[in-house]
Amino acid sequence: MTEQMLSVLGMGGTISTVPGPAGAVPRITANELASSLGVDRIRSKDVFTRSSREIGPEQAWTLAAAIEDEIHCGATGVVVTHGTDTIEETAYALALLVAARIPIVLTGAMRPPHMPGADGPANLRAAASTASCAELAGYGPVVVMHDEIHLASLVSKTHGVGVAAFTSPAAGPVGRIVENEPLLLLGPPAQVALLSRRAAPTKRVEVVSVCGGDDGLAVESAAERSDAIVLAATGAGHVPTAVAAAAESAIADGVPVVFTSRCADGLTLAETYGGSGSETALLRAGLVRSRFLSPAKARLRLLFGLSAGLEPDELFPSAEKGTVG
Ligand code: ASP
Repeated sequence: MTEQMLSVLGMGGTISTVPGPAGAVPRITANELASSLGVDRIRSKDVFTRSSREIGPEQAWTLAAAIEDEIHCGATGVVVTHGTDTIEETAYALALLVAARIPIVLTGAMRPPHMPGADGPANLRAAASTASCAELAGYGPVVVMHDEIHLASLVSKTHGVGVAAFTSPAAGPVGRIVENEPLLLLGPPAQVALLSRRAAPTKRVEVVSVCGGDDGLAVESAAERSDAIVLAATGAGHVPTAVAAAAESAIADGVPVVFTSRCADGLTLAETYGGSGSETALLRAGLVRSRFLSPAKARLRLLFGLSAGLEPDELFPSAEKGTVG
């Protein structure tokens, strides 16, 4: 049996903050966090020490390489400590980029370490025990917060400040931590998000959030400066006529447009509604449907996929069942 070797990679965020004159700032190192676990065989490294609003596709690409290095050096499980604001984006980027041969677990904290009831230590411990469970490798990267295990493709920060801030609206958590052991309640996903080809992010993809009565200006502006657009459409994938026209014109100019839903539990439809701006009209006009990814995750799929030379249709296959897009 392989001896376990845990690796803790630090990205910053609340879990690593110390009080400062103008508020909490990330300073605690991955080594300090790793030492707090009291585990014998453990490695640690700071990849970034910043707020997660400053972590985007380039930083996720760097983190993916750092995880591959850790696997190469014998890690049997990886814990990534990360700010919670964008942890779901980094988790999904890792799902696109890293063939998870070992458990990859992201965690963070909602309360800074110096505040009463700080949740970081419990989350870190839960993440370490999850990363020590080899079965988790089959789930792709997961987010562990508040004793729940969430899939990267489904997890979402649905509360701004509460300790129980994370949910997977479409399906719930896949497991829980009970007495410091992961209890897997649902099986691994039928399909993983992993891209068939990977490349450093070089494309620009804008997310445009659509409102009722929107005149399409934001889509027109985005089309001028980006390689592709993700629409956070209303409801099950509906946009006002002017937005549909702007999207159609973007496509005619060679800028692919993917539509998602702006709903927190955002499934899109394909064949229910008619009329201009309906999902059926958008599909006829050449827009590509993301079935249930959040707008931010659809952006990452498109951005990394296009960077690797993949087509939007292959990235969001309409007929395929599963958890990819
Ligand atoms: N602002 C912090 C961040 O995302 C919030 C957190 O970590 O909970 O970096």
